[in-house]
Amino acid sequence: MKPAETKIAFVGLGLMGIPMAKNLLKSGYAVTGFDLNNEVATKFSDDKGFTFSSTPSEAIRGANVTILMLPDSKIIDALLWGSDGRTGVVDELAKGSFLIDMSSSSPTSSKVNNKKLEERSVSFMDAPVSGGVKKAIDGSLAIIVGGKKEHFDEVLPLLTCMGKSITHVGDAGAAHAVKALNNYVSAAGLIAACEALNAAKEFGLDPHIVNQVFNASTGRNNTTENKVENFMLNDAFNSGFSLALMRKDIQIALSFIEDMKCYAGLAQQCFATAKEADEKLGKGADHTAVYDYVRTQKK
Ligand code: NAD
Repeated sequence: MKPAETKIAFVGLGLMGIPMAKNLLKSGYAVTGFDLNNEVATKFSDDKGFTFSSTPSEAIRGANVTILMLPDSKIIDALLWGSDGRTGVVDELAKGSFLIDMSSSSPTSSKVNNKKLEERSVSFMDAPVSGGVKKAIDGSLAIIVGGKKEHFDEVLPLLTCMGKSITHVGDAGAAHAVKALNNYVSAAGLIAACEALNAAKEFGLDPHIVNQVFNASTGRNNTTENKVENFMLNDAFNSGFSLALMRKDIQIALSFIEDMKCYAGLAQQCFATAKEADEKLGKGADHTAVYDYVRTQKK
């Protein structure tokens, strides 16, 4: 799938979508973008090969690859199939084209979408990412891919512009399952670190030193290594990944674990904590602000 023969539609130009689309442009792909927030168009004023469309249908028309980087499956389903009397964009997806959902979506919805799109000769792939805004900017995301192996091979050159570790994990929906489970494990580590550091501080300890000990010991995790000093103990709470999205990811993982009829005790508690914190901290809170939520709770 070379740049000269590929026209990409990119829907969802938020914190992640903007840098990912920019990396495709840098590699020579033509990108037509759409986002509900049309102010994002100005972020591409210096990028060659970019066109902003005023509707998603216009962006998708004529594209042989459509990439979605949207908040969740509810929004994706409404965009594709329509809702509230509004028609979806599905008729605009060309036969033989690819729809790559790079959002962190529900594996169940993705399996349904895969089947419905297959009937229309559109190839669905789920390709959620891990690594956050920093890795989206430098094109070094981890990309987890679900879908047919021959389709994976076809779209690989394009994914390589956005990511470094690109792993095909199974059929459509498999990548969204793995992504949700990964984010649940990551969120559990974050909540544990917040509780531990807060209690250490109450005991009179210096949380910076305690975190250093965690990082030199078996308690270290992605939060202790990358978030505690950069976004939490300095009260910045601006990592670029919202608490609302973390809550959504844990909910997807919890439903998945329960659907598999597996034990989900910790996932249930993590979801309850994320939900409470999200409601308490309000719209726009970063996921690292769970530390702020934890330290303001009293037993
Ligand atoms: P974001 O909220 O910054 O961006 C989402 C964008 O979608 C916004 O610009 C919004 O205007 C747009 N949007 C919403 N509904 C729309 C619609 N119907 N049509 C067109 N545009 C619409 O979110 P983000 O942080 O970029 O995350 C996007 C996805 O990537 C989510 O599924 C998230 O879970 C996942 N993700 C985020 C990160 C991160 O660090 N931020 C990391 C990995 C994965």
